[in-house]
Amino acid sequence: MVHIGKYSIWLVFSAFGASSSILSDKCASKPIILEANPECLEISDVDATPPINEQGPVNSIPQNGPSTTTGTVGKWSYKPYCTDLISDIQSKLCVYTDHSFAQNRGISIFTTPQIADEFSQLRPLQDPSVLAGINNPRGPWYPENLPGRGIGLLAKNNINSGERLMAYTPLLIMHQHHQMPIPLREKFLRLAIDQLPEASKKQYLRLATIYGNSSVIVQDVIQTNAFEIQVGGQMHLAVFPEASRMNHDCAPNAQYFLDPLRITQYVHAARSISKGEELTIAYSTPLDFVSNRQKHLKKSFRFTCRCSRCLTGQAADTALAEIKSIESSLADWTKTSTASTKLAERLIRLYRQERLDGFLDTAFGYAALTYNAIGNSVQAKKYAHLAAESGAMKDGPDGANR
Ligand SMILES: [Zn+2]
Repeated sequence: MVHIGKYSIWLVFSAFGASSSILSDKCASKPIILEANPECLEISDVDATPPINEQGPVNSIPQNGPSTTTGTVGKWSYKPYCTDLISDIQSKLCVYTDHSFAQNRGISIFTTPQIADEFSQLRPLQDPSVLAGINNPRGPWYPENLPGRGIGLLAKNNINSGERLMAYTPLLIMHQHHQMPIPLREKFLRLAIDQLPEASKKQYLRLATIYGNSSVIVQDVIQTNAFEIQVGGQMHLAVFPEASRMNHDCAPNAQYFLDPLRITQYVHAARSISKGEELTIAYSTPLDFVSNRQKHLKKSFRFTCRCSRCLTGQAADTALAEIKSIESSLADWTKTSTASTKLAERLIRLYRQERLDGFLDTAFGYAALTYNAIGNSVQAKKYAHLAAESGAMKDGPDGANR
C-alpha cells in the first residue's frame, strides 16, 4: 500500500517547496511546555525573586543567579545574560532583547548564543520595513469578558472565510530546555520580560495564567499561552499576546500559521464568521477523538471543553472514525483500493459537517488526486486549488510550518 500523507498531497499541488528557515510553527496546537507544575513548587524555592517591577535596573544581573555574560551587545539592546554551561545541550542559555524590534514592540529570546546569532540574522531584525502592516491593532474583532470563558475575542462585523484576522510578532521566545530548575529559569525569563518596552511588558503580564502563582508568573503565562515553534532546529515556545486571547474550540472558526521569515503569526477566518460570534482556534488537534482531546486540554490547560463536538461526543467520534477510514482508503493506491471520487466527496462533506473547515486541505488534496486518477482534470485542478488555498491558511504560503 502506498501511503500518501497530507503533506505529500500538499507538495504535489503546491507551487512552493519546503522552507529551510530556522523558525517554524511545529504544531497546529498549543501544547504544554514546562516540565513541572509551578503549583508544586515549595515556596522557599521561589520566594527569593522579587516581583518583576522591583528588580531594579533592567540591565542588572538577576539576584542569586549563576549568570555569566557572553559576547558583546552587538545588535541586542542589552548585554546578554547567561546561565552556566548546561551539559546536556553543551551550551549556555542567554537572555537577548531587541527593545526597538517591530517599531518598539520589542522581543526577547532566551536561547543559546548560536541560535540567537542565527535568529538575529532574520530580516525583521535587520530591516524593520519587512514588518510593514504587521502588529496592526485594528483587527475585525474586540475583546470581551465572556461568562465562564474569561476574555475572548468577538467579531466586530461579518467576516468572510479566508479573511485575515490578525498578524503579530511574539514578545517572548524561550528555548524548551527541560532540565533547568523552575526558580532559576524564572529569574532569566523575568529579565527577558523586564527588558521589553513598558507597554509590552504590561501586556505580557496581563495575560491569563493557570496557577496564579506570582512567583513564577512568566512561566505561568507561557504555560497558559505559548505556541510551540522551532527556532534554529530546536523546540522553543513563543508568546503572541493577541492570539492568546482567542479561546479554544474543537471546531475552530479560525486557523493560524507562523511565517518564519517575518517571525509573525497570522490568523485567518477558516469559514464565514457572523458579527458578534466568538473567534476560536484549536489548542488541541481537532482530529483526535474526544477523550484524547479532553485529556490533553485538562492536563495542559485545566479546562473541560464544552464545544459542540465535545458535547455530541460519540456522534463526533463516529464521524471522525469515518474520516480516518476514508482517508486510509483514499491513500491506498493498490489495485484492490476502494478509493473513488464519491468517497473523496464524502470526505469533504464530513470535514464540513464536523466544522473542521480549517483542516480541509487534506480532503481537498485527496479529491484532487482522485479526480486526477480518473482523468477529470477540471475537477482535479479545482480541488488542487482549494487544497493549496486551505493549506496556505494552515501551513503558510510556502508551507513552512510543516
Ligand atoms: Zn471540544
